[in-house]
Amino acid sequence: MFLTFDLDWASDFVIEYTLDILNKYDVPSTWFITHDSPIIERLRKDDRIELGIHPNFNTLLDSTSATGQTSTTVIKEILEIVPEATAVRSHSLTTGSRLKAKFKEFGLTHHCNFLIPFSSRIQLLPYWDYYDLIEVPHLWEDDTHTHLSNRDTLPHLVQTTLPVFDFHPIHIFLNSYDIASYEASRSIQGSSIEKERLIEFQNKDFGTKDCLVSLIEAIQDVTNM
Ligand SMILES: [Zn+2]
Repeated sequence: MFLTFDLDWASDFVIEYTLDILNKYDVPSTWFITHDSPIIERLRKDDRIELGIHPNFNTLLDSTSATGQTSTTVIKEILEIVPEATAVRSHSLTTGSRLKAKFKEFGLTHHCNFLIPFSSRIQLLPYWDYYDLIEVPHLWEDDTHTHLSNRDTLPHLVQTTLPVFDFHPIHIFLNSYDIASYEASRSIQGSSIEKERLIEFQNKDFGTKDCLVSLIEAIQDVTNM
């Protein structure tokens, strides 16, 4: 099983919340980084963690980027924060042939921009693409799938051919159960957000954090068998 996390500019305390869960269960993970922050060093020092990049091309697509920004400068800037990265998953899964050629040019080896949902029943495997990148599709993503999930949705997926799961620390912190519950807290999110205020938005019923724990417990059950 591969647990992957897209940082999406989450506050350090939000990221720590997920890290504490992973530490408790002692499981490996991959983190796609969006920004620099003291927490990046803690992630880097953890030998169970691999760091990738999560470049944001949306400002280019929406023409809201700073003057002179190009896809090359976006990739370059994020690689300055995570020079050791070999894997890329773009924010909003933005990709295309030109971007793939650039990812390759910058020395990245693993491309993780395809969500092929488990409901497609396609047996997933990694493969080499035309750009000599290894494609690693994921079968579940919290921001599109949470509302479909309950205690029984995910555990059996750990035994599929390529069980890659895509989480966001903010959804784990909020234990979101659908996108509306996340949107409700959006107005108070940001770098200066207080933990206590965000805690008020945490969902008490089954949600994303419970999905994560259900997966970890499922894989530990399989390994202990
Ligand atoms: Zn993202």
